[in-house]
Amino acid sequence: MNKRGFTTTILHSDRAKPIEHGATHKPVHSSAAFGFADARDLVRVFQGEQPGFVYGRQGTPTTAALEEKITRMEEGFLTVAFGSGMAAISTALFALLRAGDHFVSSSFLFGNTTSLFESFARLGVEVSFVDATDAANVEAALRPETRLVFVETIANPCTQVTDLAGIGELCRARGIVYVVDNTITSPCLFRPRDVGASLVVNSLTKYIGGHGNALGGALTDTGLFDWSRYPNISGLYKKGDVRAWGILQIRKKGLRDVGATLSPETAHHLAVGAETLALRMARTCGNAQALAEFLAAHPKVTKVYYPGLAGHPQYARAKSLFTGNSGILSFELVDGVDCFDVLGKLEIVISSTNLGDNRTLAIPVAQTIYFELGPERRAGLGIAESLIRISVGIEDPEDLLADFGQALGDR
Ligand code: PLP
Repeated sequence: MNKRGFTTTILHSDRAKPIEHGATHKPVHSSAAFGFADARDLVRVFQGEQPGFVYGRQGTPTTAALEEKITRMEEGFLTVAFGSGMAAISTALFALLRAGDHFVSSSFLFGNTTSLFESFARLGVEVSFVDATDAANVEAALRPETRLVFVETIANPCTQVTDLAGIGELCRARGIVYVVDNTITSPCLFRPRDVGASLVVNSLTKYIGGHGNALGGALTDTGLFDWSRYPNISGLYKKGDVRAWGILQIRKKGLRDVGATLSPETAHHLAVGAETLALRMARTCGNAQALAEFLAAHPKVTKVYYPGLAGHPQYARAKSLFTGNSGILSFELVDGVDCFDVLGKLEIVISSTNLGDNRTLAIPVAQTIYFELGPERRAGLGIAESLIRISVGIEDPEDLLADFGQALGDR
């Protein structure tokens, strides 16, 4: 049969293996532990010689069904699910890095990821933050002890688009693990495997879950990296297919020891949300483009950051890499217009810190997610004090534009 489309694949992935009673969804297996008729089988599963489940902290059939869906969405090799996006990032790096190692990160990152990387520095793992919109900056920061490069696709809040292909080529040539956080684009708009990513992060809390009602994260190995070249894989995990070594260490040394587990109930919730990802994304991208154009033409707005606007510095790159520009946009206001007055007047749009919800959300950036950095570092990163970030949802577009219009004083 021909390769199936994105949505067909997600909808029917549970039924790739028979389900009890002909159910169309995988059931929620909430058991914390799994029993064996023969203790030898328990040992085989425990030692990774045989597939199966022993204890819910390391996985359940329900989280495995979600992992399988994400692997298919990313056209990857294997996925591990976690209790949040941050759990996925922190656990993976905890499992893969040692004191004395170094890694390079984009400086345009989700604030909590920046904070996490600074904590790694305290534990003896050094990080260099560079402008990753140009692979040359990443190359200049590489050292003999550089173990990985970490980037996001479209950065939040100012929507810089990473030089994803250039960095992919660099990491391939140097044999360095390339980690791409695909949260903002989601596998519906972009597959990091296409630019050579080794590991892909998705916060499932955002577009994949989509409804703003469940937290989760995932890490997918694309199968491209040769883990036999990676110095930090323990002998315990050098078993079978070399493509699985990294993810095995992340599941065992990471998920098992850290315990940042996704619950089966939440995994089921997220899997149901994921079924409509492509439909929601199409509406989100259309709404975001319309809103970006509306704001860019508005006299009270000085600047709009959205990769779908022709004036965006990486407009051409976004067009060539992504099938849509996602739903994150930010804008600055003219002097004398208070961002809190505008936010206070919005009737549909909710002042909230999340993103990737079906509902449109707005947040004053400097005073919240960039608050801890202080004014100087904010200025260095180009974060204006009036900056408002919008996570565009799937409302009817005319209602959305009307809400922003009235909040900006158009009626
Ligand atoms: N990565 C990106 C790009 C994000 O924007 C976020 C959260 O906003 C995360 C990771 C963390 O995800 P979570 O909130 O599920 O921990």
